[in-house]
Amino acid sequence: MEKLKAFDIEFMRLSDGDHDFSFDIDDAFFKAFPQDRIKSGQLTCQVALHKEETLLQFQFETEGSVNTTCDRCLNEIAYPVESFETLIVTLGSSYQEQDADVIEIPSTEHKLNVAQYIYEYILTALPMNINCDGLEDVVCDEQILKYIDPDTQGEAKEPGDPRWNALKDIDLDK
Ligand SMILES: [Zn+2]
Repeated sequence: MEKLKAFDIEFMRLSDGDHDFSFDIDDAFFKAFPQDRIKSGQLTCQVALHKEETLLQFQFETEGSVNTTCDRCLNEIAYPVESFETLIVTLGSSYQEQDADVIEIPSTEHKLNVAQYIYEYILTALPMNINCDGLEDVVCDEQILKYIDPDTQGEAKEPGDPRWNALKDIDLDK
């Protein structure tokens, strides 16, 4: 996690009040979280921090796209991500998650690394099934679908397939 040091927010030396941060999220970021779903990506995350004596309120606004694979046709696609999340951090006596978006950290801490949170917000923003339907300029690769989806392939060979019947009705002489 050393290479994500850039995602440390050193809150202790900040005055009470509002502070803004901006993070660029690139391929190196995703390499730090090895898993299959997201291979790389280009996003920016704007963080607005409101600091009080024993409380930090973070708002994360993440926008951009991740490079992933269509679940259906296996096309490599850039999938858009837009996420808005809030995290409340209270300064107390120990580390504990009080709620999904409320955590307590010891008041002796002086910084918080937000990389893991941003990563989870990106994952949360993605649908369960990622496919070309969610994209504006891309459709599923029909040729590939025929190869990988045995049902589609079977239908195409079926003489009673309505798609073939429709073709038969076209009078080419006209
Ligand atoms: Zn697709």
